[in-house]
Amino acid sequence: MAETLENLLIEERTFPPSADFAAQANAREGVHTQAEASWLDFWRTQALERIDWFAEPTQVLNDENPPFFKWFEDGELNLSYNCLDRHLTEHGDQVAYHWVGEPGDTLTITYRDLYNRVCQFANALVGLGVKKGDRIAIYMGMVPELPVAMLACARIGAVHSVVFGGFSSDSLADRILDADARVVITQDGSWRAGNVVPLKENTDVALKRCPEVSSVVVVKRTGNQIDMAEGRDHWWHDLVEGQPTELAPARLGAEHPLYILYTSGTTGSPKGIVHTQAGYLTSVVTTHSYVFDLKPDDDIYWCAADIGWVTGHSYIVYGPLANRATSVMYEGAPNHPDLDRLWSIVAEYRVTIFYTAPTAIRAFMKWGDEYPARHDMSSLRVLGTVGEPINPEAWMWYHEHIGGEHCPIVDTWWQTETGAIMITSLPGVVTTKPGSATFPFPGISADVVDDDGNSVPLGGGGYLVINRPWPSMARTIHGDPDRYVDTYWSRFPGRYFPGDGCKRDEEGYYWLLGRVDDIMLVSGHNISTTEVESALVSHSAVAEAAVVGRKDEITGQAIAAFVTLRGTHRGDSRLIGELRSHVRQVIGPIASPKSIVFTPDLPKTRSGKIMRRLLKDISEQRQLGDVTTLANADVVQHIAEMASVGDED
Ligand code: ATP
Ligand code: MG
Repeated sequence: MAETLENLLIEERTFPPSADFAAQANAREGVHTQAEASWLDFWRTQALERIDWFAEPTQVLNDENPPFFKWFEDGELNLSYNCLDRHLTEHGDQVAYHWVGEPGDTLTITYRDLYNRVCQFANALVGLGVKKGDRIAIYMGMVPELPVAMLACARIGAVHSVVFGGFSSDSLADRILDADARVVITQDGSWRAGNVVPLKENTDVALKRCPEVSSVVVVKRTGNQIDMAEGRDHWWHDLVEGQPTELAPARLGAEHPLYILYTSGTTGSPKGIVHTQAGYLTSVVTTHSYVFDLKPDDDIYWCAADIGWVTGHSYIVYGPLANRATSVMYEGAPNHPDLDRLWSIVAEYRVTIFYTAPTAIRAFMKWGDEYPARHDMSSLRVLGTVGEPINPEAWMWYHEHIGGEHCPIVDTWWQTETGAIMITSLPGVVTTKPGSATFPFPGISADVVDDDGNSVPLGGGGYLVINRPWPSMARTIHGDPDRYVDTYWSRFPGRYFPGDGCKRDEEGYYWLLGRVDDIMLVSGHNISTTEVESALVSHSAVAEAAVVGRKDEITGQAIAAFVTLRGTHRGDSRLIGELRSHVRQVIGPIASPKSIVFTPDLPKTRSGKIMRRLLKDISEQRQLGDVTTLANADVVQHIAEMASVGDED
């Protein structure tokens, strides 16, 4: 990237917090400046007040061996104790999860139920010979046994590695081998849009490459026919039967590993991110309370992500349970049996806090306004988004059609590596602007810098950096500490480099601009893909857009756009002309796409993020890079055929 990013866009609208909300909010005016004044004290206070310790830490940060930082190092605790045991005396009957199965079956799980199940399964794991520090792979759908399995690992100090249930057997095998897991927990099958995903069958295929795996635990969910290997495979229900509903939680050191989780694979091959106990929990409970304004006695909280991603680890399992939230957990697809499934759940459970991703919001927009309109969603009071930059148009739609124009929206920027939310609005405190994640969370220090690491003045763009350690930071990449140092700590020595572009407006608001690898250089101007995409999405015919810079003899790079349309719009040359002039008008002539290809879908990761690198490969007629994390392979073929026809007149 050259010195700074072009300063393009963006028509700014502002949404100040209401006085009512501000008066009740968990986060108070001034929290950012207070935390900044003594950031180590801020984190120490959060850790001591929000966590129950077996031994309180006397240290906060150990920075003797950067970038391998340690937090609260001499403290001892147990995360399952913090998520379960400590709530039982007064709140054992409180609902932890309202679980909703895709076919329509439901289950109400109280904190006591969850505690009993976790202890029973932890005893079963001990019975299988699992010891502290052993890695356990978990390849499941969104069933209650999934958080039970994670918490059972946490209870005995085993390290879980959850592999998203939408991954193939090859991807599963890669992750089992990389983590050196000896036990796999799975299901016969999981429900997805009315179909059975054959998780056990996939596991059997994967295990042909993983001879070290000695035990497989299988939850019966869909009842599809599966093979059970004698001696290796066990039914979950057989293993837990008769197990005691008590098991003393292990006393674990603060830096004992909690889990390994692989990144989404949007930019390249996935990295096995390692998180540990106390620092992770500190950031997760603090952010969960401030960012979602959780009131444990009143709220019905729903993070509609999958536990297979970090969002689910931090904001379906550890954060909400440690904060004693009552959550909704939904098993299946958002469009089954109809396109209003999520909104019917919001109405039925009177959900108050809802957290989803821009890719989902763009799908809801595409499906049409009538689906949310069918339901009474007046219970909602806070909305969140995570995963990609949110186009201002999608933000406004979310605000109007889901939030009824009265819910604050928190746009939360973070990564698998950061463990918890890093840049975000705080409801009741921060005035929001559609498309901006606003400001670093209290205690987090960020900056936007140029190629040489100099801070770019407000109003300009460049690389996002995090200036100093924070409690839930990744500790390493499993088995590859050098890659950890190279990827995150070498570009700007002493600072964490997330790999994302960002600009700040004159008021210091952060606007995330996507991956730095995606930033385009057109006739000497740095242009972010996010801004051009948002300009396209602001046209009434466009549902979703991806742009990439492809090699061009004259301009260095030329902008290639891939567009999916809303409803009944037709992609023809007239619309191409209209979209070009729309972008010219919104941003300027420099951002006008040289080619526009209409496509029914865009290539996405299994977590739903647009994979621009594949579009770039197609545009430059190269062999496609790593496609193992691609969700929809057929669309890539389609786009490759179309791309040659889409060039400028
Ligand atoms: P890989 O690292 O394997 O390429 P990935 O980066 O997609 O995959 P995740 O850790 O799931 O894996 O995603 C983190 C990334 O998602 C961030 O670096 C950022 O690019 C993007 N992101 C997440 N939340 C936001 C947000 N609110 N606004 C803008 N971008 C976001
Ligand atoms: Mg990443």
